[in-house]
Amino acid sequence: VLYDISSPLSERLAVWPGDVPFRREIRCDHAAGDPYALSALHTTAHVGTHADAFRHLRNAAPTIDEMDLDYYIGPCQIIRVQVPSATAVNPSDLSDSIQAPRILLATGTYPDETRFTENFAALSVELVDWLIPQGVKLIGIDTPSVDLFRDDALPVHHRLAAARVAALEGLRLAHVPPGLYELIAPPLRIAGGDGSPVRAIVRSEP
Ligand SMILES: [Zn+2]
Repeated sequence: VLYDISSPLSERLAVWPGDVPFRREIRCDHAAGDPYALSALHTTAHVGTHADAFRHLRNAAPTIDEMDLDYYIGPCQIIRVQVPSATAVNPSDLSDSIQAPRILLATGTYPDETRFTENFAALSVELVDWLIPQGVKLIGIDTPSVDLFRDDALPVHHRLAAARVAALEGLRLAHVPPGLYELIAPPLRIAGGDGSPVRAIVRSEP
């Protein structure tokens, strides 16, 4: 079974306050008599479901085209956590044991991708430090950021970049049962990029 865990890219999609929203500019259109449809995209690189490059946080770190593809393809585990809004997930919030090197956290605290809300849950540095020795190399979350909205210093982003653990943000996980899957979510090969939208998919054995 394939589950699409990415947000549709449309003008309805909310982006981080102040960032460049997604816009698809229609250049040619069948309805206008053009012989083909053609459009141009305008957007932040951190739109909807996306991957952060380590360069997003650190100047002398890999850009999105330099990120190892192995981060984004392979065994993953979806874990559902029950945490209040605007709180950082701690190791004690996880009832499941870690069974895969890619962990996707479903918090349910950002239910509507068309409306930006500030009270989403995020990761804690303690959780990242607990996952790394268990061999985790990618952490994804169903909110706009791995850091809490109010955490301007971005401690979790920095911890992940320092430890070379990749991040996926803006996942859509509400319709997917927790458990083990194969993740397929490579970023676009944007030269020198700080991030990229991804078409994120998880696959379970039939
Ligand atoms: Zn990002």
